[in-house]
Amino acid sequence: MKLGIVGYRGMVGSVLMDRMRAERDFELFRTTFFSTSQVGRAAPTVQAGEAVLADAHDVSQLAAMDVILSAQGGDYTSLMHPQLRAAGWSGYWIDAASTLRMQDSAVIVLDPVNQPAIQQALDRGVRDLVGGNCTVSLMLMGLAGLFANDLVEWVTAMTYQAASGAGAAHMRELLAQMGGLHASVAADLSDPSRSILEIDQAVSAYLRGDQLPTQAFGTALAGNLIPWIDKDLGDGQSREEWKGAAETNKILGLAPHTIPVEGLCIRIGAMRCHSQALTIKLKTPLPLPEVEALIRDAHPWVRWVPNEREASIRELSPVAVSGTLSVPIGRVRALSMGNDYLTAFTVGDQLLWGAAEPLRRVLRLVHARH
Ligand code: NAP
Repeated sequence: MKLGIVGYRGMVGSVLMDRMRAERDFELFRTTFFSTSQVGRAAPTVQAGEAVLADAHDVSQLAAMDVILSAQGGDYTSLMHPQLRAAGWSGYWIDAASTLRMQDSAVIVLDPVNQPAIQQALDRGVRDLVGGNCTVSLMLMGLAGLFANDLVEWVTAMTYQAASGAGAAHMRELLAQMGGLHASVAADLSDPSRSILEIDQAVSAYLRGDQLPTQAFGTALAGNLIPWIDKDLGDGQSREEWKGAAETNKILGLAPHTIPVEGLCIRIGAMRCHSQALTIKLKTPLPLPEVEALIRDAHPWVRWVPNEREASIRELSPVAVSGTLSVPIGRVRALSMGNDYLTAFTVGDQLLWGAAEPLRRVLRLVHARH
């Protein structure tokens, strides 16, 4: 099969490349890399890969592919996908962007959670296969055992989302902000007699001043947080928050009996990995050992962390999880509101299970059918 990859050098694309190399996915395809900005330059070296970058805006070159995998972003999908389909292209379009996710013609792919739905969609001739929102996918990976057993009445997710969720430029900006922040008080820090209040005031002045690089985030993320992610829908909800219910219910195929999924999505100064504090209303109270068994046995990547201080600090953090396929879930206990209310905390690498991994796995599913 001929595979075209667009967006190989962004955050999602880079992680995807690593995973595809590690799993030897390139051995299954003849691969062409496309770029929107570097046409004609050397392409990444992979087995049976074209040497030169092709033009990601050239419909005829794209239409020669059996599968196009895009990690380029929503604007690109909005521009090129309709043109390709209008030109009669009937190949598989696999995408990290949200543009097509909620369309009836697309299936959201997260195979440890919805493999049967993916297979049924492929049987029906669905050709648009789209990765879910990273936070939604990671929540479902953590709670798969409870959802699969129809135990969840509703859930809220209060998120702590890393800078890399916004892309490569944002990750660089966070580091630049951190460096600038430290540099602004480095001399004061080396003087142990310097008052911490003065240092704090200097830090605040730097964070509010015009020396801080803010082109990507529009404000400080280092030493700060941003309580809004994505567009303002005008009803008090951000688009990122709206995706919680919309995508969860689509992935689980629950319509018309949908589950409320609510929450607030917050950007924090972690480099990589999204975390979320969950409140789960169960349909029926369950003893904690049963909850644990259901959660931990759901699939091979979920990892139960005992609700203890040391284990939580050691295993339930972005730093512990970054670069791994493990989705730990811990801090689980019944709340004082009743033992049908649970709390939980889960962390996952949003570039792996939240983006690249479901895409490369559905690519393999597609290949297996041909
Ligand atoms: P990104 O890092 O901004 O990369 C997107 C494109 O930007 C690249 O393919 C590249 O295209 C271009 N680019 C410009 N300057 C660059 C630089 N200095 N370094 C690397 N690339 C640069 O975006 P992303 O975070 O990977 O997101 C891609 C899509 O996946 C989006 O739709 C996003 O919503 C979705 N997604 C992201 C995440 C996440 O955690 N980041 C998770 C799930 C889904 P050219 O080579 O053509 O110039």
